[in-house]
Amino acid sequence: MASKESFSVPVVFADRFFMSEKSLAEISSLGGFAWADVKEHLELMDRLSGSRSVRILVSEYVSINAAVLEQAIGLKGVIAYGSGYDHIDIEVAARRGVLVCNCQGENAQAVAEMTFGLLLCLSRKIHLSDRYVREDRWKRAESFGLPEWVMGTELQGKTLGIIGLGQIGSRVARIALGFEMKILAHDPFARPREVIPVESTSLEELLSRADIVTIHVPLTPATEKMINGRTLAAMKPKALLVNTSRGKVVEEAALLEALQEKRIRGAALDVFANEPIPGNHHLAKLENVVLSPHIGAMTQEAAERLSDAVSKQVRDILEGRRPQCLIHPK
Ligand code: NAD
Repeated sequence: MASKESFSVPVVFADRFFMSEKSLAEISSLGGFAWADVKEHLELMDRLSGSRSVRILVSEYVSINAAVLEQAIGLKGVIAYGSGYDHIDIEVAARRGVLVCNCQGENAQAVAEMTFGLLLCLSRKIHLSDRYVREDRWKRAESFGLPEWVMGTELQGKTLGIIGLGQIGSRVARIALGFEMKILAHDPFARPREVIPVESTSLEELLSRADIVTIHVPLTPATEKMINGRTLAAMKPKALLVNTSRGKVVEEAALLEALQEKRIRGAALDVFANEPIPGNHHLAKLENVVLSPHIGAMTQEAAERLSDAVSKQVRDILEGRRPQCLIHPK
C-alpha cells in the first residue's frame, strides 16, 4: 500500500474528535486543516516527516512525544483537545519553542455530571437493576418481592472526598452541596476560584473519613498510582471509589483485589490504565463495579465548547497572540 502524503496544511488533527462546522470553517479561513486520523504516534510521524507547513497539532489521545515533535519542523503549537495533557511532552516542546495549550474547563461540567451519574448508578445498583428487568427476572419472580441486593444507599449526609479541586473537582463539590453532602478536599495546589464550603485535608485523612472518594487530578509522576494497595487500605470498608480522571492514577491490580475481597464496597470507573479494555476484563466480572468507556466529557455542549476553544487558540497561535489556555510556557 502506498504511504500517505505528508501534510501541506497549517493545522493537523491527530485523532478523531468533534469539531463543529463553524470551527472548521474558521480554521479553513486560516489556511486549512487535515485529519490524520491516526491511532498512534508512529503513523503521525510518517506523515509529518518532510512537511514544513504544519504549524499546529491538535490531539486528544495520540502521543505528541519527542519523536513526533522532532518531525514537525515548522511547529508553533500543540493543543490538547480536552483538559488532560499527559500525552504531550511539554519539556521537549518547550525546548523546541513550541507552545502547549489545552481546553481547560470546557468539559468540566460534563465530567462533573458524569461523576454523579456513575456514583448514583453504583450506590443505587442501577446497572444491576436494568439487567434485572431486561433479563425478565422481575416478571418471573415468584412473588413481587425484590431481591435483597436492590437496597441502595443515599448520598445525603455522606462525606464526599474530592482528590483534586480544580475545574472538575470544584464543580463536583458544587453538585454535592445540592445532595447535602459533607465535602472534604485534598489539593495542595488548589487556587480558590470561588467560595465552596469544603474542608481541606491531607490525602490520608480524606481517605479515612470519606464515604465516597472521587478522583480529579491530572496524571503526573506524583499522581500515578496514587490510589494503590496502601491508600486503598486507608479507606473505609463501606467506601465507594469513583475515577473519571486518568486510569493510571489508580493501581488497577490493587483495586481489583480490594474489590474482590470487599475491602471497599464498590467502584465506578470511566478511565483505565490501558484503553479500550476488553469485555472480559477482570473488573468487568464484578457486580460492585460500574464501568463506562471514557465518556466523561462526551456531551454535545462540551463538544461545542471544546471545538470553539480549539479554533480560537488556533487563530491566536497563528496570529502571534497568547492563547487562552496556555500551559507552557507560563
Ligand atoms: P484542573 O487542572 O483544573 O484540576 C486538577 C487539579 O488537581 C488542580 O487543582 C491541581 O492543583 C490538582 N492536583 C494536581 N496534582 C495533585 C496532587 N498530587 N494531589 C492533589 N491534587 C493535585 O483539571 P480538570 O479540568 O479538573 O481535569 C482533571 C483531570 O481530569 C484531567 O487532567 C484529565 O486527566 C481528567 N479528565 C477526564 C475526562 C474524562 O473524559 N473522563 C475529561 C476531562 C478531564
